[in-house]
Amino acid sequence: MSKVLSPRLARAFDLAEAGLPLLPVHSPVPPDRWHLSGCSCARPDCPTPAAHPLRRLTVDQATTSTRRLLRWWGGSASTANLATVAGAAVEVIELRHPSPHDEVAAWLRANQVEPGPVLDLGGGCIQFFASLTNVPVGWYHPLPPGWVTKLEHGSVVLLPPSRQAGGLSVEWLTGPIGIKLPDCWRLFQALRRLPTRAALAAYHHGDRDATERSRPVDGSA
Ligand SMILES: [Zn+2]
Repeated sequence: MSKVLSPRLARAFDLAEAGLPLLPVHSPVPPDRWHLSGCSCARPDCPTPAAHPLRRLTVDQATTSTRRLLRWWGGSASTANLATVAGAAVEVIELRHPSPHDEVAAWLRANQVEPGPVLDLGGGCIQFFASLTNVPVGWYHPLPPGWVTKLEHGSVVLLPPSRQAGGLSVEWLTGPIGIKLPDCWRLFQALRRLPTRAALAAYHHGDRDATERSRPVDGSA
C-alpha cells in the first residue's frame, strides 16, 4: 500500500521544490492552565504565540532539504505550523489596509508593478513576496489608513495551512508556485502611494467604467 503524504508534508515538499526554505513553528492551542498564552510552547509569557520556531530550532535552520522536511512534518512535528523566513529566499512586504485585494492589485498594475505571491492573514493584513534587495532605506510608511512595511530579515512568515494565534488562517491569494517575484523597492513605492479606501474604490470603478464605455456595445467597430 502506498504511503499517503499528510497535507502539511505535501505542501512543504511543493514549497521547498519552488525554492522556499521552511521551518516548523509552534501552533495555536486552546488556552488552558498549561497554555496560558495559547501557544503550543506552553510558555505562559510567550511573546510571539504560534509564530516562533519549534523547540530549539532557530530561523537559520529553515531548509529545502527533503530529508529534513520528512523528519519534521512526517514525524514529530506533524501538526506544526509551516513557515518560511523573511530574507531567506524572498522579501516580505506587509500591508495593513482595508481595501479588497483586487483593488490593491489593480492599483499596483496601474503603477507598472505586477504583484507576485500574496498571503492573506485576515483582518485587513496581507503579505507580498518580492525579490531580495539590499536597498538600505527606511521600509515603513504610514497610510491613510494602515501602513506598509518590509519585514526584518529573520522574521517568521506563516504559510498555509498554518493557523495564527487566535485561530485565523493564512491563505494564498495568489501563487506561490510559478509566479514571478516583483522588484521589492518598486512594489514598496507603489504601495506607499495607496490612497484611502474610498479613493481607491472610486479609482478602481472609475477605471473599469471608462474601459466599459470605450468598448463597443454590440461588438461592431
Ligand atoms: Zn510560544
